[in-house]
Amino acid sequence: MIEINPGDIISEFGSKEVLDTPNYLTVQISDREHIMLTPEFLQYINHSCSPNVFFDTKNMVVIALRKIEIGEEFSFFYPSTEWSMDRGFDCLCKSENCLKYIQGAAHLPPEILAEYQLSEYIEEKLKNQYITK
Ligand SMILES: [Zn+2]
Repeated sequence: MIEINPGDIISEFGSKEVLDTPNYLTVQISDREHIMLTPEFLQYINHSCSPNVFFDTKNMVVIALRKIEIGEEFSFFYPSTEWSMDRGFDCLCKSENCLKYIQGAAHLPPEILAEYQLSEYIEEKLKNQYITK
C-alpha cells in the first residue's frame, strides 16, 4: 500500500531542454530559463488553486504538500514557479479558494501568494518587486 505524506519526495526532476521563453509545458527556474521537464509525466500535472504537490526548483524535486490518497491526481499551483505565463487561462479546479484566472505570480496580490509555497525564484521576484515600488 502506497501512501504519500506531506514532505515526501514524489519524484526528482531534471531539464530535458532549457528554453528562453515559456510555453504551457515548461517550468520557470529564472528570468530567462524555462525547463522542459524530465521525467516526462511531470509535464502533465495540472494546475490547482489547492495543490497537493510543489515543484522545488532549487533542489529539483517534486514534494507532497499534504497527504495524497491512492488514485488522487497530482496538481500544482502554476504561479508557484511561473512569474508571468505566455497566456493565462480560466481555472476550473473547483476548489473553494479558486482564483478563477491564472496567469502567473506577477498577476496575483501578495496576500494571496502568501498562502502558497513558492519557488525560491518567485520569492526573489516578489522581494525585488516590493523594494522597487
Ligand atoms: Zn482554481
